[in-house]
Amino acid sequence: MSKTVICPGSFDPVTRGHLDIITRASKMFDRVIVAVLVNSSKTPTFSIDERIQLLGETVQELSNVEIVSFDGLLAEYCRKRGVDAIVKGLRAVSDFEYEFQMAIANKKLNPKLETVFLAADADSTYLSSSMVREIGSMGGDISNFVPACVHDRIVAKLTKNG
Ligand code: ADP
Repeated sequence: MSKTVICPGSFDPVTRGHLDIITRASKMFDRVIVAVLVNSSKTPTFSIDERIQLLGETVQELSNVEIVSFDGLLAEYCRKRGVDAIVKGLRAVSDFEYEFQMAIANKKLNPKLETVFLAADADSTYLSSSMVREIGSMGGDISNFVPACVHDRIVAKLTKNG
């Protein structure tokens, strides 16, 4: 049976850590939906359109990956789209408590919805979008942190805002 999973996140901006998780999910499952959260409580650095465009370029070679923006309850969106599981990357023990709580809440809201955790790659376990924003906006080298194809665009935006 065909399996569809979702990788939700802010992706503000996409990092090599995100790309690692999306790539691995695309090999494990039939279809991967990357859902960019429109989070009203946070003011993002990159607009929704910019985040979607950067992600689209980053995953263009992965034919079973689709990028969407999403606002509202993830469990409900998954029900509507027939999603079997949420895929999340776990970087450290510090990620675990929150993610575990969310996994249980999502399962309560949508009992068919599983959450699958992938251990972060050893090379990107330290990486976060906020670190990229902070280092990039101060002119630091972020080439090891973001996908090469979108590096220049991310730098341009961060230094303009910095
Ligand atoms: P960040 O925490 O970097 O702001 P997001 O909210 O955009 O990231 O992250 C979306 C999801 O991507 C996270 O819940 C996590 O599952 C995964 N993720 C983020 N960064 C990494 C990383 N460096 N390695 C593995 N997974 C990651």
